[in-house]
Amino acid sequence: MTVPAQDSPLVVPTRDRVRALKRHLIGALRDLRAVKHPERAIQKRTAQPEGFAADVVRAGCSACRGHCCKGGGEHAYLDERTMARVRRDNPTLDAAATIALYVSSIAPEGYAGSCLFHGVRGCTLAKPLRAELCNT
Ligand code: SF4
Repeated sequence: MTVPAQDSPLVVPTRDRVRALKRHLIGALRDLRAVKHPERAIQKRTAQPEGFAADVVRAGCSACRGHCCKGGGEHAYLDERTMARVRRDNPTLDAAATIALYVSSIAPEGYAGSCLFHGVRGCTLAKPLRAELCNT
């Protein structure tokens, strides 16, 4: 089996990139406020593969080292649907605390040109905070 792979150098995230993430999250939280029924916006969890399929996925993902994460940039595919889930699961967090939680999860050193959460050991964002696309 052949999988794509990435071998970019590791870099410290720039302030501009962190600011771009914050702006993106503010937009996603604003979009969530406009949603009439936030609970309906939450995407259904995709079942995790099991058995042989799980082995193949694990092997493929560790070999490619996050090629797919290159598209994550400063948005990590986060949108109002993810924000709806995160706000539901963390009712005590206000918007500022939610954004701070994401910023504190940024990889201290990440792969150049990839998602801000794409660190040397993989994704630095906890699964409950990731977009459903990433968890899928
Ligand atoms: S949030 Fe994690 S899984 Fe999603 S694109 Fe970024 S590094 Fe990859």
